[in-house]
Amino acid sequence: MKIVAAEFVTSAVNPGGYPPGNLPEVAFVGRSNVGKSSLINKVVNRKGLAKTSSTPGRTQLINFFNINNDQFLMVDLPGYGYAKVPTDVRIKWGKMIEGYLKERECLKGVVLLIDSRHTPTAQDKQMYEWLQYYHVPTVVVATKVDKLSNNQWAKQQAVIKKSLPLSKEHQLISFSAETGRGKEKLLKVLDEFIHK
Ligand code: GDP
Repeated sequence: MKIVAAEFVTSAVNPGGYPPGNLPEVAFVGRSNVGKSSLINKVVNRKGLAKTSSTPGRTQLINFFNINNDQFLMVDLPGYGYAKVPTDVRIKWGKMIEGYLKERECLKGVVLLIDSRHTPTAQDKQMYEWLQYYHVPTVVVATKVDKLSNNQWAKQQAVIKKSLPLSKEHQLISFSAETGRGKEKLLKVLDEFIHK
């Protein structure tokens, strides 16, 4: 797949705000600061499309982007797991994310982002378990891999696979928004998601 156009459509906090129509959707989810905005911008080749911010937890909305003039929508779900956010806000986020993933009929697949340098958090594992429980087609992407040597990544890859634990049916793609590593592989998976 080649992405030639990417446009912001709308932000939503609840199903009433989701865009109408029935375009296939691929959602991106991960803890805040994992590199989700940077990945989306890199994949669509638009520097400022998804906001990148050094203040984690600021994006509290579901953002929809139209890709290739109605080929499909990319859905940027709010990052989870930011410790400084009050509990009631965190619960609201959880409900927003779960509400979208559970109810959205045109959802074709989910990209779960995990920091390549760290062991998946309890929330990463919970999210992955949940996606499996609901049989949502999933790909796991390990972000910021440019920060690791090949040797370190080989070790971390094993840690991530074991700790999730990664199912045989799911790919783990190493990604860097700095170098573009993993971009073509991920585009191929997105293509498979929307054509299934
Ligand atoms: P988000 O909160 O998940 O959307 O994360 P951002 O995309 O805003 O990234 C969080 C921080 O990590 C920023 O300072 C980014 O510059 C940095 N970052 C994101 N992706 C990469 C990457 O692939 N490599 C490196 N070295 N830094 C990255």
